[in-house]
Amino acid sequence: MANLHARTFPARKRIALVAHDNKKKDLIDWAFYNRAVLSRHELYATGTTGRLLTEALDRPVSALHSGPLGGDLQIGALIAEGKIDVLIFFWDPMEAQPHDPDIKALLRIGVVWNILIACDRATADFLLTSPLMLNEYQAILPDYSEYTGRKMR
Ligand code: PGA
Repeated sequence: MANLHARTFPARKRIALVAHDNKKKDLIDWAFYNRAVLSRHELYATGTTGRLLTEALDRPVSALHSGPLGGDLQIGALIAEGKIDVLIFFWDPMEAQPHDPDIKALLRIGVVWNILIACDRATADFLLTSPLMLNEYQAILPDYSEYTGRKMR
């Protein structure tokens, strides 16, 4: 990446979608309702969410592993590589998950790289209807140079 202090989100965004089991219906309903807007972007998802989205939207979705098998971490790695711009993550606030550390890691790396994150339907609606969604966008990143250049002894 040429400039570590900024990142360009393309007009055609790379959107990752993840929903815990109790939230899957909500996410699929939301995605179907917004299928016209979503058709202008590239979709990625964890395994089961991806399968359901492919069926509901009748279009290809790049499905990674299921969340508990490493899918959240795969999405986190894509974010760190600059390959995901938006995370729609309907996590379940009412049920513990076996892969809780992975969920925390995914949410953390999303903030580290200043990508767009929506964890509930209302925020996802606001995000998807922003005019910035259909344009290229220059995201300013926090300056990590003091951290990366720190002296070790
Ligand atoms: P799934 O994974 O889409 O494979 O169910 C989601 C998750 O639990 O993180």
